[in-house]
Amino acid sequence: MFRAFFLTIALIVPAFAAAAEEIRLYVFDCGSLRFDDVAAFGLTNDETEVREMFVPCYLVEHPNGRLFWDAGLPVAIVGQGDVPLQPGTTMRYDRSVFDQLDDIGVSLETIDYAAFSHMHFDHAGAANAFVGSTILMQKPEYVAAFEMADANPVFDPTLYGELADAEFILLEGDHDVFGDGSVRIIAAYGHTPGHQVLYVDLANTGRIVLSGDLYHFRFSRKDRRVPSFNTDASATLTAMDKVERLLEETGATLWIEHDKALADTLTKAPRFYD
Ligand SMILES: [Zn+2]
Repeated sequence: MFRAFFLTIALIVPAFAAAAEEIRLYVFDCGSLRFDDVAAFGLTNDETEVREMFVPCYLVEHPNGRLFWDAGLPVAIVGQGDVPLQPGTTMRYDRSVFDQLDDIGVSLETIDYAAFSHMHFDHAGAANAFVGSTILMQKPEYVAAFEMADANPVFDPTLYGELADAEFILLEGDHDVFGDGSVRIIAAYGHTPGHQVLYVDLANTGRIVLSGDLYHFRFSRKDRRVPSFNTDASATLTAMDKVERLLEETGATLWIEHDKALADTLTKAPRFYD
């Protein structure tokens, strides 16, 4: 009877467990992008004055492992000042994510999982370094990045090609990373074929959703603007609905990853959210 009792408790607890107090979220400055023209993002230039995007990387520390999320701009440009990307666009990256991980005493070998919202160059810039981690990727993103990269011009396989040797868990939908509901990858296709966002439940900070590129600007969210270079506009709108519903149901706060004004207010590593 006692055994049955404890078994029942063991089965019940995970479903009701609040976020483990030990979960931490680190935000790293992995560069910035500056645009003369933002029309490609589905806005007109007079609708917003914002021309700069923050480029983040994140680390989630969970009692059962570490998840790295989004790998910033290409590490090759670190320390080179303003680097032209294409006419009218520059990128800048002052201090590599590797040095920033070093600051908090985290070595790459200790990072169990790496996931990218999608494989564009500003989210996969240090991806090759995570070849020792298990990669959590949506199957359509894997196909686009590794089998059809030529058809996806914002994909640069030199940044992530070495991951071909990594272990993958290929996802076809949402995924509970550590099995307790606290850190969940949410499929949100459309910006790229297998775009995804990340839900993190923090004991003190509350619930946060990291947007990937579901939205680039606050304005994009307000008016459901779809960038012209998204691979699937109608899937993007469906993904927006799905994530907005998740935010409503969970009370989570959306962090638009590229939102410079938001980023300016965030606590960066070595400090963290818990
Ligand atoms: Zn981006």
